[in-house]
Amino acid sequence: MSVTLSGIGVSRGIAIGKVHILERGQPEVVEQKIPASKVEDEVLRFQLALKVAQEELKNIRTRIPASTPADIAAFIDTHLLMLKDSALGNVPIDLIRNQQLNAEWALKLQRDALVNIFEEMDDAYLRTRKDDVIHVVNRILRILLNQDNQPHDGVTALTGHIIIADDLTPADTILLQHQKIAAFVTEYGGPLSHTAIMARSLRIPAVVGVHNSRKTLHNDEIVIVDGKQGVILANIDEDILSYYRQQQQQESIYYKSLNKLKNKAAITIDGTPISLLGNIELPEDIDSVNDVSASGVGLFRTEFLFMNRSSLPDEEEQLDAYLTVINKLKGNPLTIRTLDLGADKQSQETKDTSVPTINPALGLRAIRLCLKDPDLFTPQLRAILRASAHGPIRMMIPMLSNIQEALQTLQIIEEAKHQLDREGLDYDKDIPVGGMIEIPAAAITAYTFAKHLDFLSIGTNDLIQYTLAIDRMDDEVNYLYDPLHPAVLRLIHLILNAGHKAKIPISMCGEMAGDSYYTRLLLGLGLREFSMQAATLLEVKSVIKESNISELVRPARKILQCTHSDQALALVNNINAG
Ligand code: PEP
Ligand code: MG
Repeated sequence: MSVTLSGIGVSRGIAIGKVHILERGQPEVVEQKIPASKVEDEVLRFQLALKVAQEELKNIRTRIPASTPADIAAFIDTHLLMLKDSALGNVPIDLIRNQQLNAEWALKLQRDALVNIFEEMDDAYLRTRKDDVIHVVNRILRILLNQDNQPHDGVTALTGHIIIADDLTPADTILLQHQKIAAFVTEYGGPLSHTAIMARSLRIPAVVGVHNSRKTLHNDEIVIVDGKQGVILANIDEDILSYYRQQQQQESIYYKSLNKLKNKAAITIDGTPISLLGNIELPEDIDSVNDVSASGVGLFRTEFLFMNRSSLPDEEEQLDAYLTVINKLKGNPLTIRTLDLGADKQSQETKDTSVPTINPALGLRAIRLCLKDPDLFTPQLRAILRASAHGPIRMMIPMLSNIQEALQTLQIIEEAKHQLDREGLDYDKDIPVGGMIEIPAAAITAYTFAKHLDFLSIGTNDLIQYTLAIDRMDDEVNYLYDPLHPAVLRLIHLILNAGHKAKIPISMCGEMAGDSYYTRLLLGLGLREFSMQAATLLEVKSVIKESNISELVRPARKILQCTHSDQALALVNNINAG
């Protein structure tokens, strides 16, 4: 009888391999009283451990493969910054000195205090950040306790193995990827953990939250990991094994075949050209967008230039970042979204000055924050305008909820243009300015936005969050996140119609655009411009190339009339099978 263990699939793909259980667990710590004469030695021991931890992480940072997206390195940087933070550096030293505690116990007390603070946070994303504190503290503890910090046992090569662990840090994940592991399974962690995000970027199949997996599975037994379904199959017979081997083979043939599409045009069978663009967060991401031959960038999330740092980038630094991207695009268009800071995306500086809100997704974020703070907004507008002298740039305003915000923004852009005129600085006088439609109020009134703006882009991530009243960062309500909810589909249709009537370009840059499951439905509804992570672009292109729009319009209309998403799901399955 085979055994099935379930968890949350966070990175899809099928892996078959031998189990390797990482028995590291939580380092055991005991409290000891240090004699007064030895207190300063203990402080030194602690400081040395901090230094060694920093060296370990810096060393791992240099081993990140060049092809890895830039935000992965940022995870390691977050851990390095934590090691320099006084909460981890100074507070334990005070405890060692004032209470004559051993370094391990002082660090454990401070870890518990920090974890408590994170656990009380309302924001699900910030709550998951307590994992980072635990990972960093465990690294220091293992150094203090002379335990091995690296996920290897010195002798066994882990190539092709399926790693089963209590939890993995982003640094562990990088080292394991170096050893070419087949997949990993952890007992803890959620879909928003940095480790899960990294697994997706590095394309390692992964399932998290599989409680008791270390007790149930045994070293060297063969198991199957299905990262899409979130299951691990053990004690498998030959039939199951050969079924999954076949699936795995098909998967690998499919991904290889996608590479052949890189230089092929995205045109449907009935001859409609579709524009496939990339989403980027940092300038470095442009290389992976170019690598899949995208026809430009449909969303540059510029707030990432403002995150994980102690001071804000000035106009020149922003200009540099935009120029790096536009130069690498070699004539393809770049859509720069103005700052979408707030909610789950905070910069240190704006966070410190803003009043904490109970409901940050509904608070002072994105264009609301920018209109309130000209010192934040104007340098960015000037940088975008100045960059527009060097290539085709479009400016995009996030989180519009009423037309006054759009008109006020257009006015501020005009003022920035006048400033540049007075200073004799060059810019594109006809730079297109568009808006993201991601709030239901804006979707319902999209025709008004379409009258005043040069293009619209549908942000399905927020549109779904706000339409269905579910926090997109809260895994407790993830099950309600439903792109096929009739209300969501009707809003998307409204926006597309408004754009078509006004004869302005209309694109989609939320996750739905990059999920090939929805490609045919969106084509049938009239979408012609899709923007997504580079990793999914070729998959979407392959569906487009096998689609006939004339056959999709009627079923799409039918799907719009569905009263439940189950009906819509069945119809989407139909058009995908056809
Ligand atoms: C969206 O909301 O769909 C979107 C693309 O913006 P972000 O995910 O950055 O909020
Ligand atoms: Mg959004």
